[in-house]
Amino acid sequence: MSGMDERRKGLEEEYFHRKNQEAIEKLRAKMKVAEEAKAAGISSMKCPRCDGSLKESKFEEVLIDTCEKCGGVWLDSGELEQVTRREKGGWFSRLWQEKE
Ligand SMILES: [Zn+2]
Repeated sequence: MSGMDERRKGLEEEYFHRKNQEAIEKLRAKMKVAEEAKAAGISSMKCPRCDGSLKESKFEEVLIDTCEKCGGVWLDSGELEQVTRREKGGWFSRLWQEKE
């Protein structure tokens, strides 16, 4: 192998090494964001209204998803029944007031 080829091979390896590093860094950054979101209690679900992140909150044993962006509250099937059943205490109205 000539010196020229060796040099080119070296550059190629460096190039691919750098590309790999970039890919790894990107993946790490992605994973970090996902981990942080998880730690903050943000689910990977997106708000159907504004595309904001939905945050899972627990109110009196009922899990609800609230949008961090528009403040929308999303309920899974069956959850609305649980919410209305517990409405007596007025916590649901308090939740809305807190969002103002
Ligand atoms: Zn939203």
